[in-house]
Amino acid sequence: MCGIFGIYNHKDAANITYLGLYALQHRGQESAGIACIDKNNYHYHKQMGLVSDVFTLDVIKNLKGTNAIGHVRYSTTGSSDLKNSQPIVVEYQKGHLAIAHNGNLINAYKVRDELRSSGSIFQTTTDTEVIVHLMARSKETVTAERLISALSPLVGSYSLLVLTQNELIAARDPYGIRPLCLGRLKDSYVISSESCAFDLIEAEFLREIEPGEILIINKKNLQSLFPFKKVPYRHCIFEFIYFARPDSFMFGNTVYNVRKALGRELAKEDTVEADMVIPIPDSGIGAAIGYSQTSGIPFELGLIRNHYVGRTFIEPEPSIRHFGVRLKHNAIHDLVKGKRLIVVDDSIVRATTSRKIISMLRFYGAKEIHFRVSSPPTRYPCFYGIDTPTRKQLIAASHTVDEIKAYMQCDSLKYLSIEEMRRAVNEDHYTFCDACFTGDYFMPFPVDMEQMELFSVDHKLE
Ligand code: AMP
Repeated sequence: MCGIFGIYNHKDAANITYLGLYALQHRGQESAGIACIDKNNYHYHKQMGLVSDVFTLDVIKNLKGTNAIGHVRYSTTGSSDLKNSQPIVVEYQKGHLAIAHNGNLINAYKVRDELRSSGSIFQTTTDTEVIVHLMARSKETVTAERLISALSPLVGSYSLLVLTQNELIAARDPYGIRPLCLGRLKDSYVISSESCAFDLIEAEFLREIEPGEILIINKKNLQSLFPFKKVPYRHCIFEFIYFARPDSFMFGNTVYNVRKALGRELAKEDTVEADMVIPIPDSGIGAAIGYSQTSGIPFELGLIRNHYVGRTFIEPEPSIRHFGVRLKHNAIHDLVKGKRLIVVDDSIVRATTSRKIISMLRFYGAKEIHFRVSSPPTRYPCFYGIDTPTRKQLIAASHTVDEIKAYMQCDSLKYLSIEEMRRAVNEDHYTFCDACFTGDYFMPFPVDMEQMELFSVDHKLE
């Protein structure tokens, strides 16, 4: 779970990157960083925290140069620590190099051990640093070829940016698991995890970077290489369901349209009678609109979200801890009182938030609560770049829908089926990875402690 942004050939490269990262903040809130490299200079700044906290006017002024890359991080491999923040900037035999990565390299531990046993010294515990070491060791003379030789032994997901003195290189893994797109801002090219960043800087969306594409941007031109064996696409379906911003275009579709289509599928076979459809904001909004349009049941904003709750909320005394959920969500009392509600969210992980929201709605007098989820039960963790908890913590890994319903204390609970979900994302044209719902891990992952937990399902309800 990370966001990356890059720009080539712009006098305000760092400033534009800062704005791009603002638009990608939802992809990672742990740390943010920008690196600029051009012929004469290299500068970088990274820190733990949100983009707005990490960069001040003075910091941006000091990030001189016409080419820049930036990163917002939410860790999937490596601890949440300043040393693991990106871009990683190094000086090696060929000059300076900065790299920003979104994804998860599942054989990074193994490759890292091999590199260490032959003398490499690692500064971070991220999978991304492995790429830097492999590039430094490559016998190739051209940077793009060094990158290709570094990526060749690596398995997993990557959408990444590499910046050197002369060029900006974008790469996307052959399965196209994470999104990445190309845009133009007057005489400059821009690359972003999501197209919503282009809208903010008024750049033109050109196209998605193709799965398996290595795109080289330099003073002379734009060059695409496809060095890897072609494989079927496996775009992450969870980007559509939850992770990406609704105003982004990816995998051939606008995220908002897909969320509405998921909601429409959810409503199609549903016979429940209710007075209104309310989303859990913000994640359930698109699906709730789709549900409402298909069922004809009015859409209302019955729940309001406080957008200013930081990640570092300090838990108060245990005796008043139950206020936690109200910090983020509150209900409109007179709207929900005495009503039969359809409450829509995109997914259930541990069911703790949804359970508390249901209890709050009952407290304010809701008559019936029918919970609807615009994805199938999340039964398996993701190893390809989304930070899902281990199987132990996923309630649907060890409980039936009826048991989850009893735990959440709703009047009915319905998930989307796998088939309905596939229909909503137009599976005919694009192929998706839906391993978090099906357990169909198309890339085998190494057996280590965390993955072993996959097979020890002993989660107990409170
Ligand atoms: P819960 O009711 O506690 O299971 O929480 C469900 C909420 O978590 C939903 O609103 C989802 O949008 C959100 N969610 C789903 N997957 C993730 C994830 N990987 N990280 C953070 N939040 C998530």
